[in-house]
Amino acid sequence: MPKRPDSQYSDELGELIDHVYGLTKAGRYRSAMDEVLTYLRHHKDAHENSRMRLLAHTLLRSRTDRLQAEEPTTDEQLRSALIAPFLTQCSQCERVGNSMTALSAELGMEKITGNPAWLQCQRCRYTLCRDCFTDRRDHSSGVDAPNPLTEACPQCRELLSQPVLATGRKGVIAMDPETIEAVAVVRHGPIPPTMSQVLTVVTQLLPLLADDEALVHIKRAPSRLPEDEWGREKLARSLVQDLERDGVVRAGAWQRAERHVTHSGSRQGPAHVLVVIRKPDHRMTVPPVRVEAVVVLHGPVTPGPLEVELLVHDLEDIMPFTFAGARLSLYGGGQAPSAELGQFMLLRLEDEGEVPRGSLERAIIRTIDVGGSPCVVIVVPAAD
Ligand SMILES: [Zn+2]
Ligand SMILES: [Zn+2]
Repeated sequence: MPKRPDSQYSDELGELIDHVYGLTKAGRYRSAMDEVLTYLRHHKDAHENSRMRLLAHTLLRSRTDRLQAEEPTTDEQLRSALIAPFLTQCSQCERVGNSMTALSAELGMEKITGNPAWLQCQRCRYTLCRDCFTDRRDHSSGVDAPNPLTEACPQCRELLSQPVLATGRKGVIAMDPETIEAVAVVRHGPIPPTMSQVLTVVTQLLPLLADDEALVHIKRAPSRLPEDEWGREKLARSLVQDLERDGVVRAGAWQRAERHVTHSGSRQGPAHVLVVIRKPDHRMTVPPVRVEAVVVLHGPVTPGPLEVELLVHDLEDIMPFTFAGARLSLYGGGQAPSAELGQFMLLRLEDEGEVPRGSLERAIIRTIDVGGSPCVVIVVPAAD
């Protein structure tokens, strides 16, 4: 972009700031926001830069005035994962807003007084928006009655106050976009989504732009998306295998894959399963979980040693667990062993000292098929 004669800065961010202010003066907020999002996409540390923070907050401020602007910012831009770190989310209603006091440190504000728009716990950042805050007031028994909920953080009993700093938005996956090799997406329903529909979902979740379309691969959904985590793991694995077979991602992609389930827009929107695969030099951030015990409740047919070995191998392959040294126990569970029976069995094993105390709280319980017979598999991760 050409350097403006009145430019205050000589660096890249300075040029962006000049350019963005020029666009906002002309009422071109959408273009200005696009410039900021593009910069954030390609400069991973920019979110921490105080000049960038000031710029982003200025752009996010008083959005209502700007709805009349020549080019208002779009909802899609405001839902971008790239802008999310500058936003604050209400801990109660999950509404997202831009806090005027988020920059109090940068602006040298020491004490903030006046009618608070939002409130926040200065210790754990529990946040209440104005609506939730007034709502709680209205429900107190009397105007002057002390209501701890209106005044104290429910988590650490600190008084809620200001400044209200940015908390980010739930559901955003913070990662360096440069480490992403591919994203596989499946949407629930018989009609496959368009790339533009999928990009709306992807950019809300991952710090990517619509320009990153080449990284996104839309896959055909099974007749219905599996409800349980186990089924989704299997689906995710088949997506990754497809991409690997098609040469889209390099070998060993499953070890670099992270699975996410999300809904588009509202919770009522169609469910999507997203699998993010990182480039080979960026391994998964989640270390494998060490497993202490595996308990299998089998149906009428007792699985043989080979079937059990395959089952454990399958578990290991699907989830980031390490089973080395884990104790394996097999029990008969009747005609159709259920998850409830598994929980009951685990409590009994705890009582008998066969598995450590607290196993049930940590246990991951799945019903799967072993050689045509349903089995409940209980994985007990090791205590920290
Ligand atoms: Zn709220
Ligand atoms: Zn707190």
